[in-house]
Amino acid sequence: MRIKWDEIPAGGLSFSVDDVSWVPVDGVVWQGQGVCAVSLRKEGGRVLLAGSLRLPVVLDCDRCLESFAYTLAEEFELVFELLTKEEEAGLGSEYFCPSSELDVVYLAEPVVDVFSVLAEQVYLALPEKRLCSDKCLGLCPECGANLNCCPCGCARDAGASPFKVLGKLKVQ
Ligand SMILES: [Zn+2]
Ligand SMILES: [Zn+2]
Repeated sequence: MRIKWDEIPAGGLSFSVDDVSWVPVDGVVWQGQGVCAVSLRKEGGRVLLAGSLRLPVVLDCDRCLESFAYTLAEEFELVFELLTKEEEAGLGSEYFCPSSELDVVYLAEPVVDVFSVLAEQVYLALPEKRLCSDKCLGLCPECGANLNCCPCGCARDAGASPFKVLGKLKVQ
C-alpha cells in the first residue's frame, strides 16, 4: 500500500488495515483478525504518521516449544522527510542523524509505503523472550518431557530447590 503525498488531503488521512497476511515475519503465524490504524498528516514539507497495531499471533515458547497465543500491540509515530537532490547524491550524510525526539525516515520520493512501515512495527512489537507463561517450566533436560503438563520421574530428582540436590548428595 503506497500512498503518494499528493493524495493526503489537507485534513489528513486516516484508515485501518485489517488484512495482515502481507506481512512476512519469520516464526510468526497470524491468528484471526488484527487491526492496524494509520493516520497521515502533512505538515510543512514533511509527513507525519501515527499508528497503532493490535494483532493476534501464535508464537512458539522458547522454553517448552509449545505454541501459544499472543497479541502484538504497538503504537508508533514516524516523520517522513524528503531527501534533497544533494542528500540523495550522498553529499549530506549528516542529515541521516536520527532525531532524538521522533523517528525520521528519509525518502527519495514522496511516497509512504504503509505496508513496509507496518511490517517493521510488527518486528518491533515481537517480544524478545517468547514465553507461554512467566512460570513456564520448560522441558526436562533428561527426558525432554514438557514439565508444564506431565512431570516426569527425573524431574523430581533434578528439582528446582537446591536443598533437594543437597539432600541427594548427602545420601551418596
Ligand atoms: Zn512454555
Ligand atoms: Zn524427565
